[in-house]
Amino acid sequence: QLTMDTDVLIIGAGPAGSVAAQMLNRLGHHVVILESQQFPRFSIGESLLPQCMAFLEAADMLDAVGAENFQFKNGAAFSHAGKLTEFDFRDKFTPGWGTTFQVPRGRFDQVLADTAEKSGVAIHYQHKIVAANFDNPDLACLTSVDTSGAARNWTARMVLDASGFGRVLPKLLGLETPSSLPARQALFTHVEDRITTPNYDRDKILIAIHPDHHHIWYWLIPFSNGRSSLGVVVPQGFLENREGTPLEMLRDLTFQEPRLAELLADSRFDTPANQIGGYSANVSRLAGDGFALLGNAGEFLDPVFSSGVTIALKSAALAAPLVDRQLRGQTVDWQTEYEHALRKGIDVFRAYVEAWYDGRFQRIIFEPVQLASVKAMVCSILAGYAWDDNNPMTQRCGKRIAAIAEICPPL
Ligand code: FAD
Repeated sequence: QLTMDTDVLIIGAGPAGSVAAQMLNRLGHHVVILESQQFPRFSIGESLLPQCMAFLEAADMLDAVGAENFQFKNGAAFSHAGKLTEFDFRDKFTPGWGTTFQVPRGRFDQVLADTAEKSGVAIHYQHKIVAANFDNPDLACLTSVDTSGAARNWTARMVLDASGFGRVLPKLLGLETPSSLPARQALFTHVEDRITTPNYDRDKILIAIHPDHHHIWYWLIPFSNGRSSLGVVVPQGFLENREGTPLEMLRDLTFQEPRLAELLADSRFDTPANQIGGYSANVSRLAGDGFALLGNAGEFLDPVFSSGVTIALKSAALAAPLVDRQLRGQTVDWQTEYEHALRKGIDVFRAYVEAWYDGRFQRIIFEPVQLASVKAMVCSILAGYAWDDNNPMTQRCGKRIAAIAEICPPL
């Protein structure tokens, strides 16, 4: 006979898990997070979008984030073959936050998790979920193992899977489906950037496009401590048969791009590079009896517009009030109220990601005589406001992107 340990079990203490936990705790529910690692731990995904700020604010976590000395961010700069263009998020079409932060994720995620813990959420680190059982409709059961190998069962009325690339429930319940996007690979590290170039703006992420291959692009995300996150995304297989360590390959590719070569001329590549490939992923459904999938445990598209943490926080903000209603005995239509509502914005980002890689969106971004109103609407997307129905650039976006790209000169 199993007894209930808690109202809600959450797998993973990343941004989706901590924000959902905090929101549910505020709604009066008992929440336990089971996290496989010990924090702080490294995570990729360091450039936030202004849309994130609304969710952090709603979770009452913004003060804790603001108290850290994170790098201020107000926009995105793009460079290609000597051309440079900038978007200031404060010029966006959609009302709301126009600035945010660039964050080393080890610290950022710890701040969110600690804030949730201080509010009363129980977090058990180094507890890895290895099994799940949803046979009993009233009592979900998860099994964790700790570092000594000891197993423990946990029961709750509802489980939220916020395990990110761990994708715990998609794997255990056979929900994984291939992404509509082709597999790509990223190489990344942190450098001591030593940037002294006078016209360089640390308040913006820099996205640079390889001069000869428009589907290869780089990110440069400055932090407040003189270091930067640097990465490159290439088609799967592009690095095969290349000589050198991942760091040497990253360095070599970086100096092929003129703007990065100029900015990072004096930088120190002092940290080994990581690589990750085939990260785009999808699932057949985002919720079922007794569970819902948050953030990267559901669909993950692509890093190019830094949309990952925004989607993770949006999923938490959508799911928390639905879990609350369900636990209070009300009927929730997870398909409409969660899956459809979340996927609407993900599909907007997808249209822009596809148009980025086929070159159309890159043409729009570098069009020098952009109509101010279109620029403001595009700026809203880049700032993460993909769920704003009032923005014409979120509606039938494939067609609109195609029409605008047609009148823009080739890259
Ligand atoms: P995560 O942050 O991954 O957290 C999941 C947590 O679950 C982890 O702490 C993990 O340890 C834990 N976990 C996993 N398995 C288990 C288990 N079995 N049991 C218990 N716990 C478990 N996003 C941005 O917003 N901006 C960017 O600039 C950006 N750049 C990116 C660059 C690259 C190359 C890639 C691949 C992604 C990038 N992303 C970016 C996406 C971002 O990394 C993710 O979208 C974001 O971290 C998702 O948050 P999450 O809370 O869903 O999951």
